[in-house]
Amino acid sequence: MLAAVLKDFDQLVLEPVPQPQAQMNEAVVRVKSCGFCATDFKAIKGIRRNVTFPFIAGHEAAGVVASVGPGVTSVKPGDEVIVQPSGYCGFCHHCRSGNTHYCESAFTTGGDGPADVRPGAFAEYMKTDAKCLFRKPPRVSFDAAALTEPLSGAWKGVVQYSEMRVGDDVVVIGVGGIGLLCLMVAKAAGAGHLVAVDPSAYARDHALRLGATGAIDPSDGRTKERVYEIMPDGPDLIVEAAGPIEAVKLMVELRRRGTRWNVFGITTHETFELDGGLTHFLEGRMDASFGTTPLAMQQAIHLMDRRLVDPEAIITHRFPLSEIHKAVEAMAQPNRNKVIVNP
Ligand SMILES: [Zn+2]
Ligand SMILES: [Zn+2]
Repeated sequence: MLAAVLKDFDQLVLEPVPQPQAQMNEAVVRVKSCGFCATDFKAIKGIRRNVTFPFIAGHEAAGVVASVGPGVTSVKPGDEVIVQPSGYCGFCHHCRSGNTHYCESAFTTGGDGPADVRPGAFAEYMKTDAKCLFRKPPRVSFDAAALTEPLSGAWKGVVQYSEMRVGDDVVVIGVGGIGLLCLMVAKAAGAGHLVAVDPSAYARDHALRLGATGAIDPSDGRTKERVYEIMPDGPDLIVEAAGPIEAVKLMVELRRRGTRWNVFGITTHETFELDGGLTHFLEGRMDASFGTTPLAMQQAIHLMDRRLVDPEAIITHRFPLSEIHKAVEAMAQPNRNKVIVNP
């Protein structure tokens, strides 16, 4: 089969490799669509260093079951499926508490996080545990289905952890792909004012088209004033989906009493300060969220199937696997949103 194999940083090679074989409780999936995540781009460009070569990236996948190993009864060849990229044992303390993303024996197919990294979906075929597969509803496209994992992360952060309520005034800081998904989830959950904060005019336009009621450029340092002009009572919920530490600091600045706030985008080890007494009197409810769980995956699929969120709306580029280098170039340019690879 054809795969995009990362041999070293900046050495992405399209070449034939042996097709994966399903072992006990595993399934092989013919990949139809795979989202290009910032994590993949960072691995290819060496911005992220925890990569062992050779590596096949790509963890946001949907496709058709090609074959199953012994013991698999939940899916059969021909079934259209969505892949949860994080594997888990199902037996440890964390798994039994519902936090499969904390699993002591976690693995990832093409992603980042666990020590056990297996080949991902920038290839014609990939394999994983059958229990990591979800049935793709017929009316959800493969491209939309490939974005189940990031959408599930958005649902988990906004609705499950930060307990967004209907009518809440919501601010999303950073409206790249994951920020737009947070925004669409907040819209579907009945946000009142829904404000996007992003220095990119392209990103702000996209957010307004997808239902933001306001968009603010933070570059002039007057973000708090602007937010409180739009929502005089201040935000009920702030989601940081940006990454830079400045975005987290801005979130801290935007709070009023009772604001729930979610540290969602930052992954670097930079620090920010919190005033202890102020935090006490604000009753500031900080949450954070990473990764996904079977519950979040299922909820994301439900949102797509009921037409409450359509991730196709954030796809700006599509490339066949043979043009993966063009996909990498597309990822490098600022005016893009979600890039999809179709192997
Ligand atoms: Zn991702
Ligand atoms: Zn476990």
